[in-house]
Amino acid sequence: MERLQKILAQAGIASRRKCEELILSGAVEVNGEKVTTLGVKADPAVDSIVVNGKPIKGEKKIYLMMNKMKGVITSAKDPQGRKTVTDFLPGIKERVYPVGRLDYDTEGLLLLTNDGEFANLLTHPKHHVPKTYHATVKGVPHGTALEQLQKGIKLEDGMTAPAEVEYHDVDTEKNEATITITIYEGRNRQVRRMFEAINHKVIRLRRVRFGELTLQTLGRGKYRHLTPKEIEELK
Ligand code: URA
Repeated sequence: MERLQKILAQAGIASRRKCEELILSGAVEVNGEKVTTLGVKADPAVDSIVVNGKPIKGEKKIYLMMNKMKGVITSAKDPQGRKTVTDFLPGIKERVYPVGRLDYDTEGLLLLTNDGEFANLLTHPKHHVPKTYHATVKGVPHGTALEQLQKGIKLEDGMTAPAEVEYHDVDTEKNEATITITIYEGRNRQVRRMFEAINHKVIRLRRVRFGELTLQTLGRGKYRHLTPKEIEELK
């Protein structure tokens, strides 16, 4: 931890004296909160430090892929004290944010980064990043019901965009089916709501693909850094 004015001066913003003035004038934010006093300390490897709306240089951008387990919340902190994805990132000092969310009970591929621009790009609806899920549902949906999901179905927040839907596995004994579904949007609880709309409750949901990325051999609850090539391909 260092004093903020020292960090700013080392990042080449201005002299230490001028940086103190910048802080007092309210131009500096740490983790989204304006700092206007001089005693504040921060860690440039962990904290997001912004001057006049721009992040200071030197903040290392990191890009991670995690295989999220169910029963884990996709945010940095939980007021109810439940496990969060950050608990599964040992060795990561940077403050990272999820790229889109997975529900508490959804498993599978989750991206995390401290690059806000990258996260916005990938979650913006106009970007149409394909996201593929294996949804295990109660009962075996008819082909016509799946066609409805494929074409678009009415939810309370409007029609869904066309999706790709196919049977992955049918277990007649258990009266369950696993459906592979690819969507190009990212509305709240979208896959669960789509299946509810055809009267099939999702009992297990796992994201298996995000853009061109798949989990491959990444174990449950584990993470890895994306390669520079993977990052480029997502942009
Ligand atoms: N759709 C859902 O319903 N839940 C998720 O976690 C992701 C997509």
